[in-house]
Amino acid sequence: MSPAPASPLEAPARPLLPPATLGVIGGGQLGRMFVLEAARLGYRTVVLCDGPDNPAAQVAHEAVIGPSDNLRTLCRFAAVADAVTVEFENVSAPALRVLGRRMPARPGWRTVWVSQNRLREKSFLARRGFPTVPWRPVRSSAEVAAAVEALGLPLILKTAATGYDGKGQFRVERAVEAEHAWQRLNRVDCVAEAVVTFAAEVSVIVARGADGHAVAYPACLNRHAHHILDTTILPAPIGPAVTQAAQELAVGVAEALGTVGVLTVEYFLSADGSLRINELAPRPHNSGHATIEAAESSQYEQQVRALAGLPLGPTTLRSPAAMVNLLGDLWAPGEPDWTAALAADPAIRLHLYGKRRAVPGRKMGHITVLDPDPESALLRALAARHRLTRR
Ligand code: ADP
Ligand code: MG
Repeated sequence: MSPAPASPLEAPARPLLPPATLGVIGGGQLGRMFVLEAARLGYRTVVLCDGPDNPAAQVAHEAVIGPSDNLRTLCRFAAVADAVTVEFENVSAPALRVLGRRMPARPGWRTVWVSQNRLREKSFLARRGFPTVPWRPVRSSAEVAAAVEALGLPLILKTAATGYDGKGQFRVERAVEAEHAWQRLNRVDCVAEAVVTFAAEVSVIVARGADGHAVAYPACLNRHAHHILDTTILPAPIGPAVTQAAQELAVGVAEALGTVGVLTVEYFLSADGSLRINELAPRPHNSGHATIEAAESSQYEQQVRALAGLPLGPTTLRSPAAMVNLLGDLWAPGEPDWTAALAADPAIRLHLYGKRRAVPGRKMGHITVLDPDPESALLRALAARHRLTRR
């Protein structure tokens, strides 16, 4: 007998089949890769985004241009879409809730609502007994002082909403700096976190179907540079026990949130093998790009399948892999030398997102390399990136 599903589930519905139109809110690279997978499976796609040249809009059948929390824009989008998902977390959760009454809206308004705000996210994780770093809410000067008192120093102050890639964060070393740091964040709602030492940062991407069945990928090992993801190795060489623990936690979070769709859980891994959840993303993740080539089915295919109500795909790997991000900084000396990189290692998989303007820190593309040895995959991917700017 299979175990009973653990959370409120949607009534079983017939899957949406092509040529149904799958809608995605957000026009970035994650939306683009969702659209490409949806198209491969025969679906039509519509993107709700802020410009016709957005990476996802470039490859979709249709784009609805406007702010995603504007009622008229949403109505135009909903008139075209048969189901809707998101590619970033700062989408109006109430709007998703309303859309969800008319069509599948996944991963679900609650998953988005919780993961778009660090205060709600941390409170949810604590309430459900999931491990996090020590943290305190900061919504007043009194709470700034209380956080310093409770957590000690150093600590990190993070805005509750809209932060990404390390934006909206300040590290506080001395007690007298804490109030000033909060002022620099415009005294908006924040969380204060103890600065933890960790051996590694890993992430697990999980997909959960409307029937409650969840599948998790092996963990990704992530290295950041200047708070932006720089490289990922898949699978993370952290051993089967820690991998399984990370997967079980991620599935547990998806069940507790009632997620139907894709959810990413980022962790801090300590030297003793213990895991603490850093943050959640209600969508595929930069660290999961390598699943496109390395896994039996990619995180984007899972997003399509879960949205359409199809059975989920296998998360097993065909090969270990490494991924390196290509940031706008690489364009500083001029157009990167694509020929040199591809000529030196023709097996690298180059992904570019169609962004016209290269800005330092902006994610322009990535390179994936498959190799039986994941460390060698990483070295090859780094070598290819290095060749882009070596003249
Ligand atoms: P973002 O939304 O910008 O990804 P994160 O909370 O993941 O925000 O922080 C970005 C990075 O900063 C993390 O990947 C980690 O390297 C570092 N970091 C964040 N919080 C902590 C912490 N409490 N202790 C130590 N390092 C941290
Ligand atoms: Mg993060």
